[in-house]
Amino acid sequence: MKYNSKEDFLKKVDAKYSNEKEFIQAVDEVINSIWDFSHQNQNYIDSNILDRIIVPERIMIFRVPWVADNGEVNVNTGYRIQFSSAIGPYKGGLRFHPSVNLGVLKFLAFEQIFKNSLTGLSMGGGKGGADFDPKGKSDREIMAFCQSFMNELYRHIGSDTDVPAGDIGVGGKEIGYMFGQYKKLQNNFTGVLTGKNPLWGGSLLRPEATGYGLVYFVDEMLSYHKKSIKGMTVAISGSGNVSQYACEKVIEMGGKVVTLSDSSGYIYDPEGISQEKLEFVMKLKENRSARISEYADKFNTKFVEGKRPWEVKCDIALPCATQNELDENDAEQLTSNGCILVAEGANMPSTKEAVHHFLNHKILFGPGKAANAGGVAVSGIEMSQNSTRVPLQREEVDVLLKSIMKNIHQTCIRYGSSSDFVNYVDGANIGGFVRVADSMIHQGIV
Ligand code: NDP
Repeated sequence: MKYNSKEDFLKKVDAKYSNEKEFIQAVDEVINSIWDFSHQNQNYIDSNILDRIIVPERIMIFRVPWVADNGEVNVNTGYRIQFSSAIGPYKGGLRFHPSVNLGVLKFLAFEQIFKNSLTGLSMGGGKGGADFDPKGKSDREIMAFCQSFMNELYRHIGSDTDVPAGDIGVGGKEIGYMFGQYKKLQNNFTGVLTGKNPLWGGSLLRPEATGYGLVYFVDEMLSYHKKSIKGMTVAISGSGNVSQYACEKVIEMGGKVVTLSDSSGYIYDPEGISQEKLEFVMKLKENRSARISEYADKFNTKFVEGKRPWEVKCDIALPCATQNELDENDAEQLTSNGCILVAEGANMPSTKEAVHHFLNHKILFGPGKAANAGGVAVSGIEMSQNSTRVPLQREEVDVLLKSIMKNIHQTCIRYGSSSDFVNYVDGANIGGFVRVADSMIHQGIV
């Protein structure tokens, strides 16, 4: 189909997916970056790449029944979105959270296409999950849910077809239960999930990879602009997997992390979160129901209930919790407090208006699909270790992770630089798009 303008295209997307607001937001961002670029290549237009790239190849929606400890029979909705296999098997995490719905998972799977492309590895885009809340559930209930979820998912995935991983609400424990059930059903020990325990096929450094990779990316952004993380004050949101390891790496590189949060509020520690204090958080959050306010009780610092940490004065902000957790007011507050860099550990944590604010104010802004790609990059490295059956040492994985984050930064510079500013949003979107679009053209209209 031909469109008169970008606005015309986006109007059609708005109308068609009106009940998938996060998906519309993600498409809007990508199309705004790639519209002019894609119209300079007649092949992209002739092959109608833009219309094709926004429609998933396949979506599975299924019933997940499970029995609670009190004997009650519950049911949740499970999903797997296989969005694009242009450059490799579908790859992307599973999210267990009550807010999960089709629009949220479609936005995540869409983002994943470009993120995976940026890593330079052979991974297509996918995402899945369920509206199940692991908080407050016993171990047995979580196992029952994971097994039931896999009772359907197993027929759609495979080490060369679709390789899910973790996301919000899905960590090493859940991956273990799902892997066990897959193996039982298929009688096949294969690298069908990533984020596995290293005892049975997982990669060293996978739990750390998203948070560490984020800080490596920030370091690249800063050194490109002749600055350093050393001595900088950093506000981090969330206190789960990504936040914990981002915090650890910032501490190691000489920065001072002053906040962490969860859905109940944030803690502010002006002295800085030390490695010892972080270890307390890591232990605490092994239980998903534990609240970050316990940090404030333990270390006698401030807990601000029901708020997000963006009102705190900082040089660097790393939103690492969830989508749309940083809005235009937060963005204004951050810039007026002197923040110079924002990099997204979470997927799409900044609203569209917040992103515009950062770009208009020439704040260094690292979008999630570039800045948090370290997790999926190490998942790709886990897949290759599973294929060769040769595990890598932690240091070897770290070297690869650093070099992938450096390459992603260079891609952003290549496609996003103008004379006086690097627009990392355009850089990441165009850089991720080119490889996928060219591969689609090579493979014909399928
Ligand atoms: P976890 O489940 O380990 O932690 C999530 C954290 O975010 C928790 O502190 C949680 O608080 C908080 N949170 C979740 N939902 C909300 C909400 N609606 N409002 C406020 N806080 C919330 O997840 P991860 O650390 O793995 O993931 C965090 C983000 O990073 C997500 O956007 C994810 O998609 C993204 N990401 C993760 C990768 C990975 O490798 N894990 C890879 C790339 C991106 P509470 O406990 O109160 O719910």
